[in-house]
Amino acid sequence: MRGLTMEYQLTLPAMLRRAEALYGPKEIVTRCPDKSFHRYTYRDFVRRTKKLSVALRALGVRPGDRVATLGWNTYQHLEAYFGIPCAEGVLHTINPRLSADDIAYIIKHAEDRVLMVDETLLDLLDGFRDRVELDHTIVFTHGGGAPEGMLDYERLVEEADEGAFSYPEPDEWDAAAMCYTSGTTGRPKGVLYSHRSICLHSISLGMSDMLGIAERDSVLPVVPMFHVNAWGIPFVSTLVGAKQVLPGPHLDPKSLLEDFEQERVTITAGVPTVFLGVLRELDASPGAHDLSAMRAIVIGGSAAPEGMIRAYQERHGLNVVHAWGMTEMDPVGSVCNLRSWMDDLSEDEKYRIRAKQGPPAAFIEFRARGAVDLVPWDGKTMGELEVRGPWVASSYFNTEEGKDKFTEDGWFRTGDIVTIDENGYIEIQDRSKDLIKSGGEWISSVALENAIMSHDAVAEAAVIAIPDPKWQERPLAVVVLKEGRSATAEEIISHIAPHFPKWQLPDAVEFVEAIPHTATGKFLKMALREQFKDYSVAKSQ
Ligand code: AMP
Repeated sequence: MRGLTMEYQLTLPAMLRRAEALYGPKEIVTRCPDKSFHRYTYRDFVRRTKKLSVALRALGVRPGDRVATLGWNTYQHLEAYFGIPCAEGVLHTINPRLSADDIAYIIKHAEDRVLMVDETLLDLLDGFRDRVELDHTIVFTHGGGAPEGMLDYERLVEEADEGAFSYPEPDEWDAAAMCYTSGTTGRPKGVLYSHRSICLHSISLGMSDMLGIAERDSVLPVVPMFHVNAWGIPFVSTLVGAKQVLPGPHLDPKSLLEDFEQERVTITAGVPTVFLGVLRELDASPGAHDLSAMRAIVIGGSAAPEGMIRAYQERHGLNVVHAWGMTEMDPVGSVCNLRSWMDDLSEDEKYRIRAKQGPPAAFIEFRARGAVDLVPWDGKTMGELEVRGPWVASSYFNTEEGKDKFTEDGWFRTGDIVTIDENGYIEIQDRSKDLIKSGGEWISSVALENAIMSHDAVAEAAVIAIPDPKWQERPLAVVVLKEGRSATAEEIISHIAPHFPKWQLPDAVEFVEAIPHTATGKFLKMALREQFKDYSVAKSQ
């Protein structure tokens, strides 16, 4: 027998309608490119968002059309987060740190019709503009106008008729947003988030055993809105009516600390690199910043080291909360809060647990598979983490690639090698994919290897991550030269430099006699990592 409850659709228009009805006077603050503060209320936000939807419709955006954005964390981008889905389009955020090649590929693959781009990122367009076909390019302007042939966002919104807006009623399973993963092998792959998955993920982030984001919070997502929807924080914040503080392009420790203090920020989130910088700044100026409002600094995207969690707590009385997630899951899968039965543990034991990635969110399930079978939850046996739940991707967009990541019984293979303890807390040990994560951004070792191996004098090249105090990981190239040939590190780097953004280039090149291989002929990267685990770029120079 079926239950007799309404088939109410969980959608972003419903979320916006709630914000309109309930949170009018709440504030949204943005740090503009010129560092000034833009302030307005939810009432203004909803009004402009509706107008944006009307304008997009008038420009020809139809249900299911993809609208791309290249922007920082700003009120304009937030309007796009809701305005595009409320025009029944699909919000497609693109990472401006990708190469022009990747951006062109992604826009083409997603078949984006419209691109919204921040005025400060216009130079990026030159790299790919003639390779993509777009109906319109809209510029998030900050006082100046849009260049010839592009539309000025501010004018577009100003001129649209709010009265022409009506809340659409999409099906909750319809796509509302999309992001591309960074490709491990091959090209980036698209993940399509449904309205329903975003709504459920938002409710989950509001739970107190997760981030507990509530109306009284002042929330500053350092994690960019172009990186898996800023971990869903703009959505949950709008759902609950929290004050939103958007840092724009100013992600340096000094600006962030000013924002935290001035806007009485209660919860912030980002990758370890950013918060290592903030920690250094706090250490350098003890007592200079009043962060008494801050209840949680959420760190994820890469492992938050135990030493960092301790340093924040012991030196500055600040609570770091470790979280884990991925593009294929909206993205938060676990948040590491301690259970009541852990209260009596020693401080050391508590820090040890807080450095783990935590237990699964409500309705997310974890299991880990070893070489033969699922591994026990003993905190010792390693296996590849598999997940399932209402905000886990069921396949990639429009490609056969990556099909093997979805198991026959409906789980997603994350590629993360973990242990799971008796409390269900995961601890990431390694990644089966050999990507390098520098400052929260992926660098594909495979792409670098292939480029290096295209050099005439190179027989083989493997690129591995070496630990880096600032960026967490940086690429090191390990190269075997062909017999009788020679090449310098500089020659190899300049050979590949035209094909990668500068920050992706290896910090150093080491020449070796041979690279260890696995039985199937793949590089044995574990062995290389072991060999170079104490490697320091400074020492090699
Ligand atoms: P992305 O899809 O770019 O968000 O990257 C997801 C991957 O980042 C995961 O599969 C993990 O390998 C890694 N990751 C995310 N959060 C953490 C964390 N807290 N600790 C260690 N690795 C993490």
